[in-house]
Amino acid sequence: MSNDLVLACYNVSRTYQDGKLKVDVIQNLDLEVKPGESVSIVGASGSGKSTLLRALAGIWPQASGRVVLPEHSMFLPQRPYLPHGSLRAALSYPQPSNAYDSPALQEVLHTVRMPHLEKFLDVESNWSHKLSGGQQQRVAIARILLRRPHWIFADEATSALDEATEAWLYEALLQMVQAQGGGLLSVAHRPGVAVFHSRRWVLEPDEAANGYRVMER
Ligand code: ADP
Ligand code: MG
Repeated sequence: MSNDLVLACYNVSRTYQDGKLKVDVIQNLDLEVKPGESVSIVGASGSGKSTLLRALAGIWPQASGRVVLPEHSMFLPQRPYLPHGSLRAALSYPQPSNAYDSPALQEVLHTVRMPHLEKFLDVESNWSHKLSGGQQQRVAIARILLRRPHWIFADEATSALDEATEAWLYEALLQMVQAQGGGLLSVAHRPGVAVFHSRRWVLEPDEAANGYRVMER
């Protein structure tokens, strides 16, 4: 397998400096994820799940060490940003609003189970106020299904969805990344999500290091 298809980190650490207090969240971490694999990341709140996911996604310039991130990745946050404007623009973001044609947008609205929003594609609004938290999360997932990245990093990205919709969308995301030759890494709490992942990383308390360590379980 070509090395540039594997997601990896070597000797990665991330320290937060909070005033005089120094907090080591991840320390000297070595991890590899191969195409076709999917990893769920679990642990207590504050254990460093988001920090780890962001470091692997390459969006922590402050982390030390080396991250090898294959091309075409997207990050799904818990609270996605929705630009002010048409629903078409919100679905296409960060691409311009003419990036996809109407049939593609209608189809993805069906996939994320919001077909009733079809008629609002060209309505300008403050969608981050009009849509519920769960609907906004579905818009963010719709973007991913349109853009078809190879790797997805999902940080509690389905937390506001009911379990049936969450499972349906995980199925769609997993099928997509596997077809693209990539993988999926998620922080997700509900046990129903576990079946969509082939591996599990647990952030466990590490008293010797006065922090948490990542264990494969
Ligand atoms: P989780 O996602 O598991 O809840 P986080 O990765 O968000 O945990 O945070 C891990 C630890 O890092 C926590 O102790 C948190 O307080 C600390 N932390 C996170 N972000 C910052 C920051 N910007 N400045 C200082 N400390 C932070
Ligand atoms: Mg978090």
